[in-house]
Amino acid sequence: MDKTTLEIIRLLKKRMDISSEIGRLKQDLKLSITDEQRESEIRKKVTDLCGEIGLEKRFALRLLNLMLNESVVAQSTHKQTHLSLFVKAKDLERQGKKIIHMEVGEPDFYPPPEVKTALTEAYDNGFTKYGNSRGLPELRSALAQKHNKDSAINLCPENFIVTTGGRYAVFLAISTLLNQGEEIIVTEPAWPAYKDNALHSGVKARILETNIEEDWQPNIDKIKSSINDNTKMIVLNSPNNPTGKIISPTVQDEIMEVAMKNNLYVLSDEIYSNYAYSDWKSVLSYEYDKSIVTQSFSKSHAMTGFRIGYAIAYRQDIIEKMNKVQALCITSVSEPTQYVALKSINSEDVAKNRRIMKERLDALAKKAKGIGLEFAYPDGAMYLFATKKGSDNKGNNEGMNSYPATKKQGFDGTEFANRLLEKGVAVAPGEAFGNYQNFIRISASQPLEKLDEGMSIIEEEINKGV
Ligand code: PLP
Repeated sequence: MDKTTLEIIRLLKKRMDISSEIGRLKQDLKLSITDEQRESEIRKKVTDLCGEIGLEKRFALRLLNLMLNESVVAQSTHKQTHLSLFVKAKDLERQGKKIIHMEVGEPDFYPPPEVKTALTEAYDNGFTKYGNSRGLPELRSALAQKHNKDSAINLCPENFIVTTGGRYAVFLAISTLLNQGEEIIVTEPAWPAYKDNALHSGVKARILETNIEEDWQPNIDKIKSSINDNTKMIVLNSPNNPTGKIISPTVQDEIMEVAMKNNLYVLSDEIYSNYAYSDWKSVLSYEYDKSIVTQSFSKSHAMTGFRIGYAIAYRQDIIEKMNKVQALCITSVSEPTQYVALKSINSEDVAKNRRIMKERLDALAKKAKGIGLEFAYPDGAMYLFATKKGSDNKGNNEGMNSYPATKKQGFDGTEFANRLLEKGVAVAPGEAFGNYQNFIRISASQPLEKLDEGMSIIEEEINKGV
């Protein structure tokens, strides 16, 4: 037994060495780290071998997922994200350089006026203590009322857990509901935290790429064919960061049907719901007992710095699992912040923020079109996910069929974002959101004059060629 175990460990070391070497090559050639087609091939070989030697397939595939994740960790050290670019931009600012921030999803609006009064009230009324780890009962009750009204459903405060930002709600869902080696389905381009949280929890993220030609809509057949015994969750984010697209009603219905049929959790990150400019329906309206919706005050109320969000689930055991870890890690969310959120839920600013953001996004899209950027017109959120029109973006985003992965040609979003930063404009490189090196994400979360100035600089740089 010992000899066999040590032999397995030796082979693991050999596998990691090969993986590091491949990582170096991929970096030199600017290839993406994960390759779904390649992974499918290995998965098939492992499945066939299990049949041949009589080993349980589910166990072997979970082990394979752990090894694939380790390789991703080993190869991910140099990737640029929107946050790394933000940090770089902030450093330049500290050195006295003027930067127009079009890289972050942080509205420049002030929080609602109710917040200012509530901050003093929280102090005066003694909302300054440790609290219930699921969140202030009054806040959960007000949130239940809001969502019941918005989605014509019937939830109670026990279906809610208040968290430190939507980000922590996503972390809690992924880290507490799934086991190591299990799989979640993530469609990309996507906010990177879904994949990174999965990696952190030893969960395998199966990436299904969408593309601009199909209006960034998830492909239901790809979803169906990626489901196996280890698949436990599908992640949705509509309106989407970075594309701004809302999942079409038909596709959303189909996804929910597939999830229910396969008994999958649906983690629906609805943080941009306040910025949905065309038909949008919360996943809550399906009343599916394995759905978890994550929400936040960050974008709708411009309260990013308050770090307050929440999760909603029909099943209280789901809330309880998340609550256990929350209580362990943070005891409870800051009570003054929860009080402030309670007092600002129904602020008129929320509708105003939405109107302003739509106006900015429209202006940004108009300008972007005029300077030769190509994008799918966003239905929501606060971003344009764009590439240079007419550039030969070969080897890009052909879904799961891009093996052998080819070096990206044409417009290089990362190089462009870095070059632009030198000129005083920060945008997020597309590679932060998946295998989209030919794209950049431009955020509309600044006033119109600044967006205009930023876009003029972008135009100058675009005209210099790729
Ligand atoms: N989900 C998406 C899609 C986001 O874009 C963000 C932030 O940019 C978050 C969640 C996290 O928001 P917060 O933790 O500030 O609530």
